[in-house]
Amino acid sequence: MTAARKSSEQDPTADPPQRASAPRKDPAGKAKPARPTPLARLGLHTDWDLALHLPLRYEDETRLTPLDALRDGELVATDAVVTQAQVQGRAPRRQLLVRLQDPEAGDAILTLRLFHFYPNQLKTLQPGVRLRVHGQVRQGLFGWEMVHPTWKLVDANAPLPNTLTPVYPTTAGVPQSYLRKAVAGALKRLVWRDTVPQEELTRHHLPDLPSSLRTLHAPPAAALPALEAGAHPAQRRLKFDELLAQQLAQQQARAQRQRWKAPMLPAAPEVHSLPALLRAAIPFTLTAAQERCVAEIAADLAQTAPMHRLLQGDVGSGKTVVAALAAAQAVASGWQCALMAPTEILAAQHARKLADWLEPLGVGVAWLSGSQTKKEREAALQRVASGQAQLVLGTHAVIQAQVRFARLGLAIVDEQHRFGVAQRLALRDSLRAGTQGSGLQPHLLMMSATPIPRTLAMALFGDLDVSTIDVLPPGRTPVRTSVVSADRRDELVARVGALTAQGRQAYWVCPLVEESETLDLQNAVATHAELSAALATRPGQGAVQVGLLHGRMKAQEKRATMRAFSAGEIGLLVATTVIEVGVDVPNASLMVIEHAERFGLSQLHQLRGRVGRGAAQSDCVLLFTSPLSPTARERLGAMRELTDGFALAQKDLELRGPGELLGLRQSGVPGLRYADLAQDIDLLEAARDTAQRLLVAAPEAARQHAARWLGEGFDWLSA
Ligand code: ADP
Ligand code: MG
Repeated sequence: MTAARKSSEQDPTADPPQRASAPRKDPAGKAKPARPTPLARLGLHTDWDLALHLPLRYEDETRLTPLDALRDGELVATDAVVTQAQVQGRAPRRQLLVRLQDPEAGDAILTLRLFHFYPNQLKTLQPGVRLRVHGQVRQGLFGWEMVHPTWKLVDANAPLPNTLTPVYPTTAGVPQSYLRKAVAGALKRLVWRDTVPQEELTRHHLPDLPSSLRTLHAPPAAALPALEAGAHPAQRRLKFDELLAQQLAQQQARAQRQRWKAPMLPAAPEVHSLPALLRAAIPFTLTAAQERCVAEIAADLAQTAPMHRLLQGDVGSGKTVVAALAAAQAVASGWQCALMAPTEILAAQHARKLADWLEPLGVGVAWLSGSQTKKEREAALQRVASGQAQLVLGTHAVIQAQVRFARLGLAIVDEQHRFGVAQRLALRDSLRAGTQGSGLQPHLLMMSATPIPRTLAMALFGDLDVSTIDVLPPGRTPVRTSVVSADRRDELVARVGALTAQGRQAYWVCPLVEESETLDLQNAVATHAELSAALATRPGQGAVQVGLLHGRMKAQEKRATMRAFSAGEIGLLVATTVIEVGVDVPNASLMVIEHAERFGLSQLHQLRGRVGRGAAQSDCVLLFTSPLSPTARERLGAMRELTDGFALAQKDLELRGPGELLGLRQSGVPGLRYADLAQDIDLLEAARDTAQRLLVAAPEAARQHAARWLGEGFDWLSA
């Protein structure tokens, strides 16, 4: 619970609202009018801001440790008497050495080393004066030492504070003492009105807000272990409030959506209906998990409120067919369905699969992408506008403004989290325009192969319904994963040769060098050349065709390469992470990932999901370059041990924190300042539960709560 507060909203419930008034004396000295006040530089504008500026840590000055009871490495407060003070060395290594003893603690000596001091401090530190010091003790050459401790003059028997001393996040020129006074003043001035009703607090065993904040700024010493674990009731109250605000906003948005109207697309159970015909054409039986998801979606589509559902399932769990059945239901009702994928490769693959399934059943299909010729594109747009194309497939070109749908009833977004903020907004606008003045909103189905742990899904997508395909189709052999040093690369190349000789195929993935797309490219091109050479001349065997796939290639080239790989004309495909999602070549049974230590867990899992799609035993080899950091070691170990995407996502959450897992900053989901989703699952559930009741029973308190936490300017209705 440490991050400094950035926003600056006025607390609407503290009345009357007051500006934080700084302590009278500005320790930074020269207060030029143009410069922001020290507090403003920390983003602290109101009393409420100050109250929420929580300590980074605490110092325990409530107990004194006598000099003869010190232990190496301990952080302690102690009282002792100056016996000697002298300046040693020259600038910049000049230091003030202060020697202390305590008549009641035998002959133990404590030496303070102060690097920043003023000449008159030397005058103050006369032999005989008593100091109270706080710092870490270590064993020095001449007894105990403290380097740069905090210290002050005290009288004998000066009283000890009875609470822990807060240490706040701060910036240069804003001393702790100044912040402490400012916060204490703010806490005194704030007029509290709790936005969470007492009965909700009782239900979830949470303390009231004023006492929680007072405790966090000045806790009793006994609270330290709980505080350090982030489990103190006062901390839980703040986390709860933050999560509650988020849940309120999401549930409110959801309620708002319920008021919109969508076309009714009833399930069509008759034997000759499109969905039934599609089922008959599919060469396998759906798993129970797929059936459950199909039913959940079918029920949503039959409603007059727009569906807003996330279909999540591990790579290879079979989301495409579930999407196809939803599309069939929309088309059967006389509406259009659009499916949008984040990359050309993926869109092309969907197009092929869905078209193969649905075109023979008489469904008109159109393809839209950025790389089409103008003529192709115009023809496609025309078919979309006339309604001739019932299924529209493509990249985000599908949601561009020129695209006019005749009757868009269902929009499906694959790998939705890979779309950027701008594209999501465009999607929203496009959905609003989608039904051309009918006043109806299309249904929305989002798909994700990045399994999101339930807790995170709730926090981020509390306003979504979630369907999960939680088992893989039968007949899959789990991928065997090994972690191998890059020293053994040659062995691997030989293995690829042997594998392709048996008619099987392999992927070889080169890492993403974040800073440089060009380097990436060079890397992949060089690897391709090297592997081509190594695999070209092997005694007794034909050369292996080595293909190359990277993000800079033209869409057409990419598609041609993928087609050749699918057809088995290419034995080894060297690629950058462009193959991360969705590509489906069941005959590929080996995945080599170079510099696996540079990838995140979920990315490695996505890559690994490209193999193990057929019945044959598949392998994933994670090549690493020493030395490995402890986290990297743990990550690669987890990849070897775990095959379940959800378990890996949970592990990723623990190792990296939620922000990185989903790229929160990029996706624009407001991050959480206090709550930790790996730890505070119970609070998230409590907040969800309270939000439901509060919106019905006390909508005004709910609004105030959301505004307090999300800012007054927060758009309460359209979150
Ligand atoms: P993803 O969830 O990663 O999008 P896909 O929809 O691409 O997965 O499915 C992966 C592979 O599994 C495809 O080849 C698909 O045809 C096949 N598949 C899907 N469902 C089943 C099933 N119930 N039984 C057998 N194979 C299936
Ligand atoms: Mg897919």
